Amino acid sequence: MVDCMIIGSGMAGISAALTLQANGKSFMILGTDALSEKISKAEKIHNYPGFSDVSGQTLCDALRAQLAAANITITNERAMGVYPLSDKFGVATQEGNYYEGKTVLLACGVEGVKQIDGETEFVGSGVSYCATCDGFLYKDKTVAVLCTSKRLEHEVAFLAGFAKKVYLIAMYKDVDIALENVEIIKKMPKAIVGEKRVEKILFTDKELSVDGVFMLRETVSPAVLVGGVAMQDGHVEVSRDMQTNLVGCYAAGDCTGRPYQYAKAVGEGNVAAHAISRYLSGIKE
Ligand SMILES: Cc1cc2nc3c(=O)[nH]c(=O)nc-3n(C[C@H](O)[C@H](O)[C@H](O)COP(=O)(O)OP(=O)(O)OC[C@H]3O[C@@H](n4cnc5c(N)ncnc54)[C@H](O)[C@@H]3O)c2cc1C
Repeated sequence: MVDCMIIGSGMAGISAALTLQANGKSFMILGTDALSEKISKAEKIHNYPGFSDVSGQTLCDALRAQLAAANITITNERAMGVYPLSDKFGVATQEGNYYEGKTVLLACGVEGVKQIDGETEFVGSGVSYCATCDGFLYKDKTVAVLCTSKRLEHEVAFLAGFAKKVYLIAMYKDVDIALENVEIIKKMPKAIVGEKRVEKILFTDKELSVDGVFMLRETVSPAVLVGGVAMQDGHVEVSRDMQTNLVGCYAAGDCTGRPYQYAKAVGEGNVAAHAISRYLSGIKE
């Protein structure tokens, strides 16, 4: 069991990892080798200390080199559930693995695409965030998939292997999926409706009858990820030392609120790592 499970491979997660390593703590980073699209896609960054007008891609390369030099690797996995246990946390990934950590750091950023009406209401009754976990439930059925990233397109293909019909609501450019049972829609839906379970997905100009709706976003909302974590205005509520309402669970970066900035994410990752180190040493605040 590691000292800390870090969820997210952006600035907040990387900053926390570097500081935890300096403090002699063990950790695992769940995220992606690509680090974060919010870094790689930035055209020019003007306000990050030490770099003048650096491109996001250059910053990404520098971060990757720093991680490699420090022997820090990122597990290319997506956390789908964080379970507070008596004195540790269990983390289940979409790839089917289960890990445990004495603490957990939520550094998962925020998703640009907002939640849609009915989404939270129907979680477990037709709304799912994990194609590989729940796809088999929709054998020969009709599903809508709201997908925000080309990187997650393989999950759409996975669903198409079970479902009779897939409506792919693609919120990204260069859709590259050509399967007979997949229909591509390029419009944001308004709401998910139904009696007890999902029945329809509504758009401004039409509605589609579906048995389920999959939300494939780069970022899983912390409220969905960790049952019981306190949220305010869509962000994780944290104290000055980045602790959430759950003992041993910390959060840093965009997921804790505005301003959404690299420097804030780095700073909060650092503060969280020090707080986690103190917590692990038994020194309570
Ligand atoms: C185009 C663009 C330009 C920007 N330019 C600037 C700028 O010039 N200056 C500035 O200060 N800020 C800028 N920002 C804002 C900045 O990118 C963010 O504030 C910063 O990236 C936040 O870092 P983070 O680590 O909190 O989250 P993120 O960078 O969003 O990283 C979170 C990572 O966690 C991963 N993740 C999420 N959920 C899970 C999960 N369940 N399991 C595993 N991994 C998960 C995500 O895939 C992502 O890789 C820009 C943002 C964009 C989009």
